[in-house]
Amino acid sequence: MTAGIRRSLDYAVVFVAYVATARMGLSFDALSGIATTVWPPTGIALAALILRGTQLWPAVALAAFAVNLPRGIPAWAAALIAVGNTLEAVVGASLLRRFGFDRQMARVRDVLLLVGFAALVSTLISATFGVTATALAGLERTESYSVFWTVWWVGDAMGDLLIVPLICVWAWPWRLSGRPLRWLEALLLGGALTLVSMIVFRRMLSVRAVDLIRGTYAIVPLLIWAALRFEQRGTTAALLLVAVVAVTATASGGSYFAARTPHERLLMTDCYMAVTAVSMLMLAAALAERRSAIGARDEFISIASHELKTPLTALKLRLTAAIRTQALRAPRDAPAEEKLGRSLAAAGTTTDRIVTLVDDLLDASRLTAGRLALHIEVVSLPELVNDVVGRLRDQAAEAGSAIEVDTPEAIVGRWDRIRIEQIVTNLLSNAMKYGGGKPIRLSVHIANGRVRVDVKDAGAGISRADQARIFQAFERVTTKSRVGGLGLGLYIGRQIAVAHGGTLSVDSKPGQGATFTLELPVETSVVPSSSGG
Ligand code: ADP
Repeated sequence: MTAGIRRSLDYAVVFVAYVATARMGLSFDALSGIATTVWPPTGIALAALILRGTQLWPAVALAAFAVNLPRGIPAWAAALIAVGNTLEAVVGASLLRRFGFDRQMARVRDVLLLVGFAALVSTLISATFGVTATALAGLERTESYSVFWTVWWVGDAMGDLLIVPLICVWAWPWRLSGRPLRWLEALLLGGALTLVSMIVFRRMLSVRAVDLIRGTYAIVPLLIWAALRFEQRGTTAALLLVAVVAVTATASGGSYFAARTPHERLLMTDCYMAVTAVSMLMLAAALAERRSAIGARDEFISIASHELKTPLTALKLRLTAAIRTQALRAPRDAPAEEKLGRSLAAAGTTTDRIVTLVDDLLDASRLTAGRLALHIEVVSLPELVNDVVGRLRDQAAEAGSAIEVDTPEAIVGRWDRIRIEQIVTNLLSNAMKYGGGKPIRLSVHIANGRVRVDVKDAGAGISRADQARIFQAFERVTTKSRVGGLGLGLYIGRQIAVAHGGTLSVDSKPGQGATFTLELPVETSVVPSSSGG
C-alpha cells in the first residue's frame, strides 16, 4: 500500500469512527442536543493521533465540524467547537508523546500519564471552547453553564479513559491464542461479566434476595479476573462491556444510580466507571510491570551464568594444564617451564575477567541501593587515558583495532580516578567488541570549563531506539554475532558521570560507527567519602 493510500484510509477511518460514535453519544440525553456525558469521539481522536501521529488532526477537525454543524448552531460556532475538539486531541497526544507514553500501557506511569494529561487536562480545552461557543451563539439551555461545562468535560474525560486504552492496546499486532481452554475462559468471563452487570445496572432478576445484595462491588472480582488472566487487552475489553451495560441501562430508566435527571444519573455512572477504569488499568499495568521485571531477572540470570561460566571453564582448563606441567618431575625442561608460565598468565587474565564481571554486579547493586561513593582526588586525565590505553593494547591488537589517542599535554581536575578509569576502559572495550576490528579514536579536549573524552569507533553503530536503552541496567542490543557482556558497563558509566556532575552520551547512526562522549566538570563538587565505593 502506498503512503498516500494509507494516509487517505487513516483519514477515512478516523472520520467515520468519529462521526458514528458522536451520533451514538448525542443520542444519550444530550444537553441542548450538544453536550453529553457519553462521548467516545474524544478517545477515538486521541488514540488516532497517538498511533498515527498528530498530522492526522485535519480528519478530527473535519469530523468534529460535520458532527456539530447540523445541531442548530451557526457554522462559526460549530467551527469553534471543532477547534476545541481538535486542540484537545493535539495537546493530549503531544503531551503524552513528550512524556514518553507507551501505547501498550504496561507501566503504571502510562496510566498516570493518560489520566493526568489526557483525561483531566486536555479535556478542559474542549469543554471550555464548547461552552463558550454555545454561549456566544445564544443556544437555549435547560441547565446552568457550570453543569453544561461539567457534562462536556466528563463526557470527554470518559472518552479518553475508556476508548484510548482500548484502541491503543488492541491495535496490531494480533496473535490469536491457539489454546481452546483460553477461549473457553474468555467466554466464561465475558458471560459472567455481562450477567452480573445486567443484574446490577439493569435490575435484571428482581428477586428480593438478589435485590438485597445488589451492588457495583460484585463486578470488581470479575474485572480483577480479567486483569490477572487477560492483561491489558482483557481489562480494556471488560471495562468497555461494563460501561456499555451501565450507560445504556442508566439512559433507559430503571437505573442502579438514583438521581433527578437522566444526565445526573449518567454523570454518576461515569464517575463509577472512571474510578473503576483507572483502578483496573493500574492493576493491569502493575501486573505487567511485575511480569516484565521477572522476565528481565530470568534473562539476566541466564546471561550472567553464561558470562561467568565461560571464563570459569577457561580458568579451569588453564589451571589443569598448569597442574599437569607442575607435576612433571623436577628439574623441568625449558619448554615445560614456559608452558607453565603461559598457563598461569592466562589463568591470571581470566581471573581478572571474572573479577570485573563480579565488580560490575556489585556496582549495579550498590547503585540500586544508592550507595556509590566517590573518592575525589587530583587526577591528570591524559595520564589516566594513556594508562588505560597501555593496559588494553594487547586486547586491542587481538581485536585487530588500533587505538589512536589524541590528548593535550595537561588536563588536571578533581575526580574519582578509579571510577573514571572504569568508564574509559568500558568505552574502549566496547569499541573493540562492537567496532568491527576497525581503528578506534580516543580524543580528550577541554571547552567551557568542561572536559570531553570522545571514543569513536567505525563499527555497526546503534539505532535511535537502542541508544535510549543501552544506558539502562542489563540492556543489550541483540545481534547475530554473540558478543559477551552483562549490559552493565554503560549503565554504571553514566551513573558515575552523573555523580561527578557530568554526562555520558552516544552519537551514532546505524552502519556509521558510534561516538561515546564522557563530559565532566573540571572540579567535582562532591564531598569526598571514605566509605563504600
Ligand atoms: P555490555 O557490553 O557488557 O553488553 P554495556 O553497558 O557496556 O554492556 O553496553 C550495552 C550495549 O550497548 C551492548 O550490549 C551493545 O549492544 C551496545 N554497545 C555499546 N557500545 C557499543 C559500540 N561502541 N557500538 C555498538 N554497540 C555498542
